[in-house]
Amino acid sequence: MNVEAAKRPSFWNNSKRYYDLKSYWRNLFGGNVYKLPIDAGFTCPNRDGTLGWGGCIYCDGRGSKLRQAGPLPSVTEQIERGKAYYGANRRAAKFIAYFQTFTNTYAPLPRLVSLYEEALRQRDVIGLSVGTRPDCVDTEILDVLDGYGRDRHVWVEYGLQSVHDRTLAFLNRGHDRGAFLDAVARTSGRNIHVCVHIIVGLPGETRADILETARTLARLPIHGIKIHSLLVLRGTRLGDLYEAGEINLMSRREYIDTVCDILEILPPRVVIQRLTADGYKDIFLAPSWAVNKLDVLNGIDAELKRRNSWQGIRAPAREKALDFSSGLGEDET
Ligand code: SF4
Repeated sequence: MNVEAAKRPSFWNNSKRYYDLKSYWRNLFGGNVYKLPIDAGFTCPNRDGTLGWGGCIYCDGRGSKLRQAGPLPSVTEQIERGKAYYGANRRAAKFIAYFQTFTNTYAPLPRLVSLYEEALRQRDVIGLSVGTRPDCVDTEILDVLDGYGRDRHVWVEYGLQSVHDRTLAFLNRGHDRGAFLDAVARTSGRNIHVCVHIIVGLPGETRADILETARTLARLPIHGIKIHSLLVLRGTRLGDLYEAGEINLMSRREYIDTVCDILEILPPRVVIQRLTADGYKDIFLAPSWAVNKLDVLNGIDAELKRRNSWQGIRAPAREKALDFSSGLGEDET
């Protein structure tokens, strides 16, 4: 493809080389929107014995800082605290309640409805984002979220990490690629935006493997992506492997180059919600470069500029893409 001939999509209305979440929401709602993280006290079937014990090998299993500090405040109180954090005097007046910790569809439906609707009743909360596993969404919960999505802004965030079954088995994810594809197909066509989480730098994956994950996602009816760098945490099984010298980690340079390759493959309409990961300072082991999030983000910007490249420049041709039109027109190209 002739890189020089590519056109930067004007609908982004930003100065970046990818479609960032802040710009997407400004375009959609005319102002800033903030996600308010909520820990509603859920657990995970990959930890409680339903699917497995111990969870994914990189997961520390502690939950949010709020949970670690003591009894969880109510959803209402967590939203109030989040709003206060962003400041009552800011121009921002809109918020998304982000059910973030563990598997946020893993409870009896009446409890889920009660928690989601408590969030939706709060002033200036315009919608929900619900983080979950692809094997934890049944028709009933999708129907509920679809109903909210008729007049609210609703996302489901599916943890995938990789499309390769051997990697998912190594990570002890407890689901396979097929479960993810099935979840996306069943979510498609509803009033629900789909965001997918992937991890770059997983042990055993080559650059080609990672780009295969990107190409798969580029052909699916998804609306957003979170790209995480692999973080090795003390007390996890991944941490044990690292300390035993049994895994290799990506360098900063490799990470930046690979993320730029992924961005080039993802269609311009896919909103980039995250480009790296940080946090967990008290149990963080490696890679050391991941601590400096801003440096990684600046590195990605610089590499895209050096390439004279943008998100979508190598996206699959539209006619080759799978057509799962969702009816959510605002973020389509
Ligand atoms: S699915 Fe999520 S919460 Fe559950 S063990 Fe894996 S990373 Fe942890």
